[in-house]
Amino acid sequence: MTQPRLRADGTRPTSAERGRARRIRNRLRDRYPVIATALTYTDPWQLLVATVISAQTTDENVNRATPELFRRYPNPFALAQANPADVEKIIFSTGFYRQKTKSIVDLSRDLIERFDGVVPETIGELVKLRGVGRKTASVVLAEAFGQPAIAVDTHVRRLSHRLGLATSPDPDKIEIDLKSLFPPAEWGRLSMRLIQYGRDVCVARTPRCFDCDLVDLCPFPDKTSPVQ
Ligand code: SF4
Repeated sequence: MTQPRLRADGTRPTSAERGRARRIRNRLRDRYPVIATALTYTDPWQLLVATVISAQTTDENVNRATPELFRRYPNPFALAQANPADVEKIIFSTGFYRQKTKSIVDLSRDLIERFDGVVPETIGELVKLRGVGRKTASVVLAEAFGQPAIAVDTHVRRLSHRLGLATSPDPDKIEIDLKSLFPPAEWGRLSMRLIQYGRDVCVARTPRCFDCDLVDLCPFPDKTSPVQ
């Protein structure tokens, strides 16, 4: 049997810790047997752009804006030459539209200059693109290319802490800790299931602990009861 991967602090998870992680994974899998990003896209570049636009807004908002965006600019070559004012109008409703427009136009230019307009399939290359961090890169790797990757967003971070799967506030260390607890084949779906569970049940302000499938596995001390 292969040894589990190291956590960020250099220790390895015990078999009991891996067993608890496996039970958490199984219950999330039971709850969400089929899981995928809610962002609408038809190719890796569209997913990359949609993921950048999804910062600080809902996937539904993104999906309302991107059909027109991709109709006007169907590939990185078109978006790289876009007039920013035109792009801003299209993605205005997603918030932070000026910064997001700059990001997706710069990203498209960068993609053409460095990779001939083809989205690379490694995290090392993806994070070299302007405006692309590990979280965005991991979403694209897991979702568009089916590669083992864990995207640590605000939901994954919160749930990892509440469930005692990671302790560091640093997303890179959370990613390492989660990778030490779960098999690579589960990484992509695990992060999507944690994100969905963070939206549905273990929400930020008042987690629905009274309605939680994981309550007996969760060490979070501030569990909530139903509001009377
Ligand atoms: S018991 Fe509460 S804090 Fe723990 S995972 Fe469930 S909803 Fe989140």
